[in-house]
Amino acid sequence: MVDASIGGKTGVNHPKGKNLIGAFHQPRLVLIDPDTLNTLPAREFRAGMAEVIKYGVIWDAELFGQLEATTRTDRRQYYSDGFLTDILRRSCQAKVDVVSQDEKESGLRAILNYGHTIGHAIESLTHYRTFKHGEGVGLGMIAVGEIAVQLGLWSKDCAERQYRLIEKTGLPTQLPATFETEAVLDVLTTDKKVKAGQVRFIMPTAIAKVEITDRVPTENILKALHQMQTAA
Ligand SMILES: [Zn+2]
Repeated sequence: MVDASIGGKTGVNHPKGKNLIGAFHQPRLVLIDPDTLNTLPAREFRAGMAEVIKYGVIWDAELFGQLEATTRTDRRQYYSDGFLTDILRRSCQAKVDVVSQDEKESGLRAILNYGHTIGHAIESLTHYRTFKHGEGVGLGMIAVGEIAVQLGLWSKDCAERQYRLIEKTGLPTQLPATFETEAVLDVLTTDKKVKAGQVRFIMPTAIAKVEITDRVPTENILKALHQMQTAA
């Protein structure tokens, strides 16, 4: 509803990675019925919320604030006072804003991949069995947030706010002890977003502000991932 429904990007998975084969094709109509979310397992709902949080971090500070401020913890509570409809609408609007400025993913649209570069690597390395897509994105956002702090791009306070929001939503915040963090680097270099050998990262610089950089030292990636593995 908040992500794949808008933008006209269609894709299928390949053993070498997620969404590697696809096309851009705009639908004639997008129909969103929030009530259908109530038929999902709670874990799937939370996974979807990771993309909503993403829109808060990359584009919409008010959405981020709404999510931070709410005391809703259970999915059913999201339905009261039009809260769910509101966050769905805001997320869709964020995607429309970005995509309408960049339909074929040449520049701005790349910011939609926030949390996804490392997220996809985590999903792939755990063979798509341990984490739902949204859970991978949540972990990817935590990792990139930490890297951004290490590189002096983002304040520690902002990174903590993002972490707390992801945690509050009931999404995983830690990597399994058996996870091989070094293997992430191999996956990153086969990621479809690699341009001329450089991995591009979407780095937050404020709430609702990001920048694209291909200058992220390997050691920072590993340090962030290790931290997510050992933190109690
Ligand atoms: Zn996604």
